[in-house]
Amino acid sequence: VYSHSQLSTYEECPLKYKLCYRDGIKRDTEGVEGFLGNMVHETLKKCYDNVKLTKLSTLDELLTCYHSLWQKNWHDDIVITKKELTPEHYHNLGRKMLEIYYQRHAPFDKDITIGTEMRIRFSLDDGGKYQLQGLIDRLSRTPDGIHHINDYKTSAYLPGQEDIDNDRQLALYQIGIQKKWPDIKEIRLVWHYLAFDRELVSARSAEKLADLAQNTIRLIDEIELAEEFLPQESGLCDWCEYPDLCPNRKHFYTVEALSIIEYLNEPGVVLVNRYAELREKAREIDEETTKVKEALVEYARREGVTVIRGSDRKARVKFDEKLKFPGKSEPGRKELDEAIAKAGKWHDVSQLDTTALTRVIEGGLWDKALIDEVMKYGRIEETNAVYLSKLKEGEE
Ligand code: SF4
Repeated sequence: VYSHSQLSTYEECPLKYKLCYRDGIKRDTEGVEGFLGNMVHETLKKCYDNVKLTKLSTLDELLTCYHSLWQKNWHDDIVITKKELTPEHYHNLGRKMLEIYYQRHAPFDKDITIGTEMRIRFSLDDGGKYQLQGLIDRLSRTPDGIHHINDYKTSAYLPGQEDIDNDRQLALYQIGIQKKWPDIKEIRLVWHYLAFDRELVSARSAEKLADLAQNTIRLIDEIELAEEFLPQESGLCDWCEYPDLCPNRKHFYTVEALSIIEYLNEPGVVLVNRYAELREKAREIDEETTKVKEALVEYARREGVTVIRGSDRKARVKFDEKLKFPGKSEPGRKELDEAIAKAGKWHDVSQLDTTALTRVIEGGLWDKALIDEVMKYGRIEETNAVYLSKLKEGEE
């Protein structure tokens, strides 16, 4: 059984997906943003559950509920990535969101709540092979019979209409709801962006839902067949629970715990610092070498000499003429190629471009029989490269 969050994790970073869902490695750490979201969700659930029981909570009651949930559930493994912020900042943020939501929606009588934190499980195909599950924050029905799949968002980012029209999560829930209650015809997907006091609404046609089901089935197939789960770096790495198991982050994680002396003597740190220093020197030397070479040529031309004497070396400057033809993307190249090919001399002057061949094979651009034939001559060799870059903000 898959969930939207499982599918998204795979799309964001296959390695994280593997560690979390295939290997089942669970972590106690939790981002403060996720914790805040959970507390706000719990409070709103309580609010609507009370309304179902005909009890309208006052704002004070809700905020007290929020505060006690926060106190009860807060634990030492909650991670605050933004160093300038404290738990109080996040607590206040959640409180503010609830106040704004309450003011907009109280007395919560514009619709009927069918369920809060509703667990749904459904299949995308008739055979029951592609099972999905999810949790709907709140399912409601307006007086004119339109069902709303409501989702509370506590994020600090407000997406555009196009983003939400392409959002997968609630649209999948719509498929699940319509499978469960086929008589429900009209559904709206509603995101409540609490920090912005904004409701974003999207509706999906039957065709769009059918496309979504097909795309999701394809994605599930890809995940099931996957053998290689490579790390994929993104802005989300700062919130990843597996830095110690990720080749992209492991070294950062390891050296973070070291004292400054240990850090500066750590072999990896020493090597990177030395490599960066040498690369910088090499760049300076390259630049200077080019300038001196140009000056030597200029000197030889001006003085009419071809050999210039130094203290223990001499430099020979050679002036020569070389036949040149247009390069690959230069004017005249196409016509030149055509002229040679037309004369039937192409094989005299051309040879296989193995870089292009590698691209074709890796991209699977030829038919399988030809690829198999060519691959008799190919071999896999381990290569390596070292790329230096500046540390990003937050990595320093
Ligand atoms: S740190 Fe980033 S790249 Fe590494 S597993 Fe986590 S999300 Fe993937």
